[in-house]
Amino acid sequence: MKIGILSRSSNIYSTKRLMEAGRARGHEVDVIDTLKCYMDITSKKPMVHYQERVLDDFDAIIPRIGASITFYGTAVIRQFEMMGVSSLNESVAISRSRDKLRSLQLLSRKGIGLPITGFAHSTKMTQELIKLVGGAPLVIKLLEGTQGKGVVLAETDGAAESVIDAFREMDANILVQEFIKEARGSDIRCFVVGDQVVASMKRTAKLGEFRSNLHRGGSAEVISITTEERQAALDATKALGLNVAGVDLLRSDRGPLIMEVNSSPGLNGIETATGKDVAGMIIEYLEKMDKDSTETKGRG
Ligand code: ADP
Repeated sequence: MKIGILSRSSNIYSTKRLMEAGRARGHEVDVIDTLKCYMDITSKKPMVHYQERVLDDFDAIIPRIGASITFYGTAVIRQFEMMGVSSLNESVAISRSRDKLRSLQLLSRKGIGLPITGFAHSTKMTQELIKLVGGAPLVIKLLEGTQGKGVVLAETDGAAESVIDAFREMDANILVQEFIKEARGSDIRCFVVGDQVVASMKRTAKLGEFRSNLHRGGSAEVISITTEERQAALDATKALGLNVAGVDLLRSDRGPLIMEVNSSPGLNGIETATGKDVAGMIIEYLEKMDKDSTETKGRG
């Protein structure tokens, strides 16, 4: 196959690993800087241009789209889709996953376990919102945040009220969420490829911190997950329409609760913690996708 990896740089761990894994399995792999692509949106022959080239010969693309370039990145993926090129994750599914509120709404419709979450526009509703999630301690999340930025733990109702009001004064969109104490600063990352959780790890926050993000100094270890956790991760991935995802969940007294579904999950943490060749499994999945789509086209 000829595979294009959409990524800002070939020096990023995940990009490098996918490139190596693709080449090791006999494919031609190119890294394409997403922001340097430009598009010809015509009805007859939609095209993606890149530097002096026209990118018209990829069989499949692997999007590695950072949160800060979601808008342009998903437009480029969509353009490839218009050209009949399959994408590891579809542009529409990536857009869904990037909107925390929309994701939670889609997961709730499918009956998937979630922390109790509230969302409101008016600052007049602050006290009601606090009550809705069961009062402090509670977590306040900026809708646009990533890597734990903009995630705040309010220990008292008074603190919660001030933080919510301050964010709302700044016109920031926030979610208010029950704090899952029993998770004790740990969450579980399930790495889903197709219909399997291929690797999982437990991340634990450093001392004095409740956010377990590795970017915030959290540590990772291998963990075996329960059948219920496995099912929740697979259901969440499917609910958003993703093929490959990093599903973050909290272990609570009432079972697994999904926090987030990442559509460009990093490989560094999970491969280092588990020693598994996750990049190779992604390429293998892409081969299967390509075979299925060729067969479908053949039938059509
Ligand atoms: P981001 O997308 O910015 O990483 P998350 O929603 O994943 O934000 O939150 C960051 C971290 O904060 C999580 O990995 C988890 O450790 C902790 N956390 C988030 N929400 C809750 C919650 N409701 N209860 C307990 N801990 C939470």
